[in-house]
Amino acid sequence: MILITGGAGYIGSHTVKYLLENGYECLIFDNLVYGHEKAILADFIKGDLNDKNSLDKVFKEYDIDMVVHFAAYAYVGESVENPQKYYNNNLVGTLNLLDVMIANDVNKIVFSSTCATYGEPQYIPIDEKHPVNPINPYGKTKSMIDNILEDYNVAYSLKYISLKYFNASGASRDGFLGESHNPETHLIPLVLKAINGEIDHITVFGTDYDTPDGTCVRDYIHVEDLATAHKLALEHLDDFTGFINLGTGTGVSVKEIIDSAIRITGIEPNIVYGDRRAGDSSVLVCNNSLAKEVLGWEINNSDIDNIIETAWNWEQNKKF
Ligand code: UDP
Repeated sequence: MILITGGAGYIGSHTVKYLLENGYECLIFDNLVYGHEKAILADFIKGDLNDKNSLDKVFKEYDIDMVVHFAAYAYVGESVENPQKYYNNNLVGTLNLLDVMIANDVNKIVFSSTCATYGEPQYIPIDEKHPVNPINPYGKTKSMIDNILEDYNVAYSLKYISLKYFNASGASRDGFLGESHNPETHLIPLVLKAINGEIDHITVFGTDYDTPDGTCVRDYIHVEDLATAHKLALEHLDDFTGFINLGTGTGVSVKEIIDSAIRITGIEPNIVYGDRRAGDSSVLVCNNSLAKEVLGWEINNSDIDNIIETAWNWEQNKKF
């Protein structure tokens, strides 16, 4: 059985769904602080990684072979204002999880890392050899965990694959799952909320970047393509240990996202052209060669119009 921490969250729930569809037995462990009860698709234990005794009981009670570890707080701005929250939850919580895994002889983990560990890009596209230099506490917690995984691999033979996501986006094709953050800070849901009138306007953060249209460029990867990568990672833990970037390799600007949303919905949102947001790099694009080579990963859902279409379907028919 596979333990999925944070399995009630955005990427976690889509991964659980895909693993279940492919015959894996999953057990979700989530404190439901940011996760959603309605996103729980498998056996579920409400719990917190900082409650080490309860976590240990889970490992004693269930026959856990591997762990996929999503559980983490992920608001960059909040991590700057309240780093304590992030170091305690993301870092200490993960140390507890790893302690309990080692104590119970479970030595395989797929970890949810991020391209934010690389910091300001020194070259594009970003491969796994890019220097690591996170610029906010959120990225630092993920990067510290990446270091811990490396050390635990050497000392305790912990097998790990740390997946570094670029911009997770979109929703499940069947409309069953999607992105629901409170507060919402991500571009695509905010554009769609401006389109359906839930918010008054979308603010474009900066129009003077050194990019073709002056707005920031990101690499948007559909959450269902991320889900398939997690299954592949679980299946390759015996033959690969290390870090793997997950993105499309194609950059899309903020303006292009808004244009696609207008094309798909037929509705123009109010757009305000604002200042740059602190901490934003102008371009973040992934080199995904390693994912293709090691995992045999294929990207099937990340065409930008498909991302917007599935996200729009979700936005209009949200279940949570
Ligand atoms: N962005 C924007 N307006 C918003 C939210 C985001 O212009 O209301 C831009 C942001 O500057 C970035 C891109 O959209 O270039 C993606 O931001 P998001 O917060 O979705 O993801 P991030 O790249 O920060 O992880």
